[in-house]
Amino acid sequence: MSIMPQPNESSTTFPSTSVDWTRKLISYDTTSRDSNLDLIAYIKDYLSGQGIESTLTFDKTGKKANLFATIPSATGETTGGIVLSGHTDVVPVDGQHWTSDPFKPELRDGNLYGRGACDMKGFIGVTLQLVPRMLQTRLAHPVHLAYSYDEEIGCVGAPSMIQDLIDRGVNPSGCVVGEPTSMRAIVAHKGINVYRCRVHGHAAHSSLTPKGLNAIEYAARIICTIRDIADGIKANGPYDDAFDVPYTTVQTSMIRGGIALNTVPDLCEFEFEYRNLPGSSPETILQQVRDYIDSTIMPSMTRENAAAKIDIEKLARSPGLDAAEDAAITQLVRALTRDTEIRKVAYGTEAGLFQAAGVPSIICGPGNIEQAHRPDEYVSLEQLDQCEKFLIALINSQAA
Ligand SMILES: [Zn+2]
Repeated sequence: MSIMPQPNESSTTFPSTSVDWTRKLISYDTTSRDSNLDLIAYIKDYLSGQGIESTLTFDKTGKKANLFATIPSATGETTGGIVLSGHTDVVPVDGQHWTSDPFKPELRDGNLYGRGACDMKGFIGVTLQLVPRMLQTRLAHPVHLAYSYDEEIGCVGAPSMIQDLIDRGVNPSGCVVGEPTSMRAIVAHKGINVYRCRVHGHAAHSSLTPKGLNAIEYAARIICTIRDIADGIKANGPYDDAFDVPYTTVQTSMIRGGIALNTVPDLCEFEFEYRNLPGSSPETILQQVRDYIDSTIMPSMTRENAAAKIDIEKLARSPGLDAAEDAAITQLVRALTRDTEIRKVAYGTEAGLFQAAGVPSIICGPGNIEQAHRPDEYVSLEQLDQCEKFLIALINSQAA
């Protein structure tokens, strides 16, 4: 009896165009709440077939991973160079009405439809398509590929990958984050900070309210103060008119509390977020909230009942981006896109994290942000083509 040879990695046929790469990546359902390991394994196999090793950094559950890979320079250098960065996760399609299956990409009218088409599997697809070209080019500096998980739930995955770069002394000289910008250069975005506040009171029958401690009522006072902070910033600045909303915004976005009409609620929790201008300290706002709790709310609560307790938990935080115009990566992307306009956006990206780690970063990628997160998300073939031309020019600019 003979043993049939098992297919090995190299027998896999990988896509041969940027469009096919994007299709392939879309076909993996990498909604943030689920694992992205199948997609990561596929990319890892492909790179390994090209002779490129991948470094994976996992989340606590081991079900999600970042992938970082380096195409070395012609002389074998693996430090310095440019990072091409994209997130592999996508937002859910729950409750959305799609014309075609979001995870079975479909070409219609020159557009490729599917979840993640523009945000941001199109960009990742183009970078993978160009790996052989990177290898054929006599690079003066390495080119790095950085693919993260959990960007869509607050840039949760990338920090461990970036920490690993720091630990290994990779020290890239610049980073392009390929979020959908219609291939224009975006030089700044706000920081995003998300917190959960839990107000603990004391339960009692509603006929005995003085024996309880009403968590909802105290949460409401904190929420009103958060609104006052927001109004103060709106009235007094600081301002940056290059942003659509030219100041830091603050709001409470979720609230839960109470179990029955006839029970004093012993717990109220709410989430608040603020989006700070990149130049302004995100610590100040949190400190203002804490100061109000410490000076006014806690004394008042504990007078009523010793059970009083308030905790604030950080859920997500990603720093703002403010790319320096004279940074080499800014000038390179401006030259390659022939785009000199200063554009700043309100959505967060991983560019702020790279910049905070000392890697000058800029955002430029295929597709329109207005298509992202929506039903019938798409990227146009024209945008994929433009991205491919941009990255080829970028690779050529790194030739020895
Ligand atoms: Zn994105």
